[in-house]
Amino acid sequence: MPKFLARKRFPEMDLLEALIEELGDWARVEIIKQVSYEERSFPLYVVQVGSTDPKAPALGFFGGVHGLEKIGAEVVLSHLSTVASLIKWDKSFQQRLESSRMVFMPIVNPVGIVLRRRSNGQGVDLMRNSPVEAEGPLSAARLYQGQSISPQLPWFRGYGELEPEAQALCEVVRRWLFPSQLAMAIDVHSGFGSRDRMWFPYAYSRRPCPHIGQIHALKGLFDHSYPHHFYAIEPVSRQYTIHGDLWDYLYLEHQQQVQEEKGQQVQRGFIPWTLEMGSWMWLRKNPSQLFSRFGAFDPVKPHRRERILRRHLNLFDFVQRSLLAPESWFYLAEEDLARERAAALELWYA
Ligand SMILES: [Zn+2]
Repeated sequence: MPKFLARKRFPEMDLLEALIEELGDWARVEIIKQVSYEERSFPLYVVQVGSTDPKAPALGFFGGVHGLEKIGAEVVLSHLSTVASLIKWDKSFQQRLESSRMVFMPIVNPVGIVLRRRSNGQGVDLMRNSPVEAEGPLSAARLYQGQSISPQLPWFRGYGELEPEAQALCEVVRRWLFPSQLAMAIDVHSGFGSRDRMWFPYAYSRRPCPHIGQIHALKGLFDHSYPHHFYAIEPVSRQYTIHGDLWDYLYLEHQQQVQEEKGQQVQRGFIPWTLEMGSWMWLRKNPSQLFSRFGAFDPVKPHRRERILRRHLNLFDFVQRSLLAPESWFYLAEEDLARERAAALELWYA
C-alpha cells in the first residue's frame, strides 16, 4: 500500500487547530472520533461557541464532507476565523452568543480532503451513505443518485452502515442541534452550476417537506432585507433526487421525535441547508481547471479563492440573526403560516 498520505501536508487541519488555539477558553472543543488511513489518524473536531443551554437557538456549520470540494471546508474555516475575532470585542455579537450557540465541524472528511477525492477512505460517498431511499422514478443509469455496485465507482453508498464520519456528523447534530427550540445547519459544498444554491429538504423526494411555509417566510425576510442577493433558494429535489442524503436522514429523525412529543408543549425546530456553491462561474473564467484532477470543484486562482471565502458572510450573518427572531418566520400565527405555505407550493412545487 502506498504510504502517500504520511507525507501529505494538511493546511486545512493546521488552520483549524490554530483557530482552536486562538479561541482558547472562548470555545468548547471536542474530538468526536478519530479516523485512520494508512497508519495516519485524523481527529474529527467540533468547536462550539455561545450558550450551553440545550434549548438555545443553534446554528451548525459543516464543511469538507466531500473531500474534493475542500473549498467548502475553507469557507467554514474562514467563518470560524471571523467568529474567533468578533467574539473577543464585538459587544453585539457577544450578546447574540449569550442566547444562542454556534457549532462548527469544518472538516467532516479529512481523509477525502488529503487524498483529494470525494469519498472517504473506504470509497464511500458520505452524502449517499444514509439509509434513506429516493422515491421514483429512478434510473439505473443515474449513478449519481447513489450506487451499491462498487467503491471504485463514484457515489458509492457504502456497506449498509453509517461510516465513522457520517456517525460523527449525526452525533454532533443530535447532541447540539436537535434539543434546540430552533436550529439550522449549513453544509457547504461546491458543484457544477452557474449559481450559488441554498438547498432545503428533501433530497430523496419531490414532495414538499413539512417546513416549506416557514422556509418561504425566511426567504421572504432574506429577499426583502438583501434584495440584491444572488442565491437560488429551493428544495434539493428541484435539481435531482438521491439516495442516502444525511440531512434527509437527520431531518426525518427530528420530525419523528417532534411527532412523538406532540401535546407535551415542547417547541423544537430543525432545518438543514446545503449551500451548493456554483463552480461553473470559476470554470468559465479558467476552463483549463476542468483538466486538473480536483480543479473542477475548487477555485484555483488565489484572488478567486479569497472572493469566495468572503462571498457568504452576509448569508451566514443573516441566518444567525434569523434564529434569534423565530416569531418573524418560524413560529407564525396559523393563518400567516397557511399563506406562506400556499405561496411555497406555488413557487416550488406547482
Ligand atoms: Zn458535495
